[in-house]
Amino acid sequence: MDEIISNLNQINKRIKNACKKAGRKPDEIKLLLATKTVPAERITIALQAGHTLIAENKVQEIKEKYEALKEIPHTQHFIGHLQTNKIKEILKYNVSCIQSLDRLELAEKLHQRLKTENKTLEVLIQVNTSNEESKFGVSPDEVITFVKQVAQFETLNIKGLMTIGLFSAETEKVRKCFQLLQAIQQQVIALKLPRVQMQELSMGMSGDLETAIEEGATIIRVGTAIFGRRIYPDSYYWNEAKN
Ligand SMILES: *Cc1c(COP(=O)(O)O)cnc(C)c1O
Repeated sequence: MDEIISNLNQINKRIKNACKKAGRKPDEIKLLLATKTVPAERITIALQAGHTLIAENKVQEIKEKYEALKEIPHTQHFIGHLQTNKIKEILKYNVSCIQSLDRLELAEKLHQRLKTENKTLEVLIQVNTSNEESKFGVSPDEVITFVKQVAQFETLNIKGLMTIGLFSAETEKVRKCFQLLQAIQQQVIALKLPRVQMQELSMGMSGDLETAIEEGATIIRVGTAIFGRRIYPDSYYWNEAKN
């Protein structure tokens, strides 16, 4: 328990230092807790410490933890690869934003279902800024076309962009991914598209959050540095067969 609290303090310090260096204010950055594989009891510790934004990668895990967490005020996002056959299920659980919208079929089916249920949903467009075959996301040169298509669906409220940076110890290569995401954000903003908001840049994780903050992140997604190492490799979450 103490470990989670001290890790959270540590992250807050890192955010503060990065903001100082970047000339930004810490309250411009939302800390999202990436809770995949983390049991509800451990998530509760972080929520009770005042952190309210959490996200899962799998609908199954949202479902499993839902009862245990539902009395504690928090906001739930989704950051994983969403299969279209899970749409009905995910809409049962008060997920306010899907950060990983990455294909038209998913947008269409979400829209159809949301319309039936008379609901709306926030979305971020996931962009594959590292151009790795193994990562999900819209390719950078297709983002504008995709944003225009998604904007047609009046149940989906676009709020910005999300990316997973390159896994590399070379900060400057990682930085390129984040710079690209911000450049795309600026291009989209310049188009002044109706129904399209672009204020959120979700980028940066345990290993690269400072770089992301320097390049304009508004949401950083942190798991390992708060909850410790996971038993599953990330490929379990990111490299599933594309559908
Ligand atoms: C797991 C995960 C994170 C957090 O990664 P850590 O390295 O554990 O901080 C962020 N974003 C996504 C999409 C994830 O799946």
